Amino acid sequence: MHKSPDGDAVGSSLGMKHYLEKIGHTVSVLSPNGYPEFLKWMPGNKSVIDFEKTPSPANQAIAKAELIIFLDFNSLTRIGGLDKAVKKSKAKRLIIDHHPQPEDFADFVFHNTGASSTAELVYDFITLLGDNKKIHKDIANCLYAGIMTDTGSFRFASTTAHTHDVVADLMRHGAEATKVHRFVDDNNRDIRLRLLGYAVMEKMKIFPDFATGFITLTQSELKRFDYKEGDTEGLVNEPISVKGIVFSALFTEQLDGEIKISFRSKDSFDVNLFARKHFNGGGHKNAAGGRSDLSMDETILKFLNLLSEYKQELKGK
Ligand code: 5GP
Ligand code: MN
Repeated sequence: MHKSPDGDAVGSSLGMKHYLEKIGHTVSVLSPNGYPEFLKWMPGNKSVIDFEKTPSPANQAIAKAELIIFLDFNSLTRIGGLDKAVKKSKAKRLIIDHHPQPEDFADFVFHNTGASSTAELVYDFITLLGDNKKIHKDIANCLYAGIMTDTGSFRFASTTAHTHDVVADLMRHGAEATKVHRFVDDNNRDIRLRLLGYAVMEKMKIFPDFATGFITLTQSELKRFDYKEGDTEGLVNEPISVKGIVFSALFTEQLDGEIKISFRSKDSFDVNLFARKHFNGGGHKNAAGGRSDLSMDETILKFLNLLSEYKQELKGK
């Protein structure tokens, strides 16, 4: 999986693990670092090796591998410290991914930017191999979780008729839709809801002239609400739910002072290009991320100056 794995990274990796084990392979699932509680219910979660916590079993798994599968990313810059072992390994490499602009580091690439999620591609991959009948409940629940989280519960523009076909078939193979939604969405600590409330009430800025809204959160604010990994998941979607807003950003100060940024857009404003060009990041056209080494205030100043530059494009939509 990629660093700071999301529901699609975890769901597609664990779905793939269950499938490969079903057909007789020995599988290790590696994550560069930890991920939020609301993803830890997935079957097989306990077997995931966290490189940051236990680097040597992770490196050993890579050293022993005959095949390394890269799920939900397409650049070796996204796997943190796992990259050294991967670069040393002579194993064959397979990328399964739906992000634009894949880098050329694999022997096999199963890639489609039109796919809603990597989990949808894992379903297609299994089905194209003629193994659709081998999809069992654990595979189905993991892949359902990947698709559901990456599509914002089947509402983002990436959701296609095929996505719904895949989900229907996963349900035929045992996916428990209501249970997955409950595990992912209804798993809050009350203090997390208070953080979200505070962020929207006190920290959300809306700029109708630029069709843009954003939220900032500093370390001291996060500490006040007992921040845990994943607590701000989905928060970036709040400004963009305001009528007339087509571009939103969430700036969160990390422990080391770096500002992590999430971008979302509607329609033709391309946040992948915006994040690549200005904030050392990337992603999809309507959902991307990046970072800034400036202070929070300087980062916001840079962002506001950029808004003026993009005003035409933002208001044209
Ligand atoms: P999120 O805002 O949920 O962290 O990320 C949104 C999308 O942008 C995800 O598809 C993720 O893969 C991508 N993304 C987030 N941060 C980065 C980054 O630093 N670099 C690149 N290339 N993609 C990113
Ligand atoms: Mn994805």
